[in-house]
Amino acid sequence: MRILVTGGAGYIGSVVTEELLNDGHQVVVYDNLVKGHRAAVVPGAQFVHADLADGESLRNTLKQEKVEAVIHMAAYSLVGESSVNPAKYYQNNVVTGLVLLDAMLDSGVKKLVFSSTAATYGEPRQQPIDESAPTSPTNPYGETKLAFERALNWYDSAHGFRFASLRYFNAAGATIKCGEDHDPESHLIPIALQVARGTRESVEIFGDDYPTPDGTCVRDYIHVVDLARAHILALGELGEGSQIFNLGCGGDGYSVRQVIDTVQEVTGKNILTRIGARRAGDPSTLIASSEKIKAKLGWQPKYQDLRLIVESAWKWTLAHPDGYGE
Ligand code: UDP
Repeated sequence: MRILVTGGAGYIGSVVTEELLNDGHQVVVYDNLVKGHRAAVVPGAQFVHADLADGESLRNTLKQEKVEAVIHMAAYSLVGESSVNPAKYYQNNVVTGLVLLDAMLDSGVKKLVFSSTAATYGEPRQQPIDESAPTSPTNPYGETKLAFERALNWYDSAHGFRFASLRYFNAAGATIKCGEDHDPESHLIPIALQVARGTRESVEIFGDDYPTPDGTCVRDYIHVVDLARAHILALGELGEGSQIFNLGCGGDGYSVRQVIDTVQEVTGKNILTRIGARRAGDPSTLIASSEKIKAKLGWQPKYQDLRLIVESAWKWTLAHPDGYGE
């Protein structure tokens, strides 16, 4: 298939591109490089350096490249930032997303896989969370992703638009070539790895008074390759109708302290921590039930052990001490 990957120069987008190319698909990466990196565009993919808000450029790309389906990953994705700057999130994750949908309709492309998030659920009453859990985001990031999912539903009923919305839990890990490089870095595992490398003094733990076994937040970490494989499975089944799928490894999840302990074990370095305030918008626990995608699409995570996830991220960090070097 000929697939447009928005945000394909980003962390997850680059790995999705790698996997699509491995499977013989043709990929056009569409990215404005505000968050992404030119060096993260996988060789073999075509690259269009443009903004999603530019409807004309999108329409030209979709038509000229004879795109058959879109994987829409370009978005802002920081819980804390969204809580202090909601407008930025509404503008990019909702308004600009609609420019993409309308350009797709104009070009006759009606298949889309969307990067959604566990943050759509907010602070659920039951764990693990399945897709029937009520959605009640506790931050604008989750709220804007949910708003876009709802728009997709209406585009489906009005225009026969077929989508799969993948609600990611915590993506982590790396491949040999593609890894996590944000500026500034805000994610737990890369931050702990910076401490291991000596480029950061300590990890600030955002709250240790949550109602969890050790008081720190519990999350469900999923290897980025397992996540990428799910996109390809979802693409293949779009003809069957629109769907929402959770994506995590399940189990008991890992607390912030457990993640830091694992980073210490994998790297052999002492990771200094200090306790800080809670981060705005953070639910205490988010653990996925991924039974639906397992049953419907035959998806299975290969890297369920957090150690394997951290090891892959550590290898990438050691091989790319300056990230993508930009
Ligand atoms: N976290 C933390 N210190 C940090 C970064 C993250 O304690 O410097 C916590 C954060 O509060 C959350 C978990 O680690 O409970 C994972 O956060 P991350 O930003 O990696 O992913 P998110 O859950 O926001 O998608």
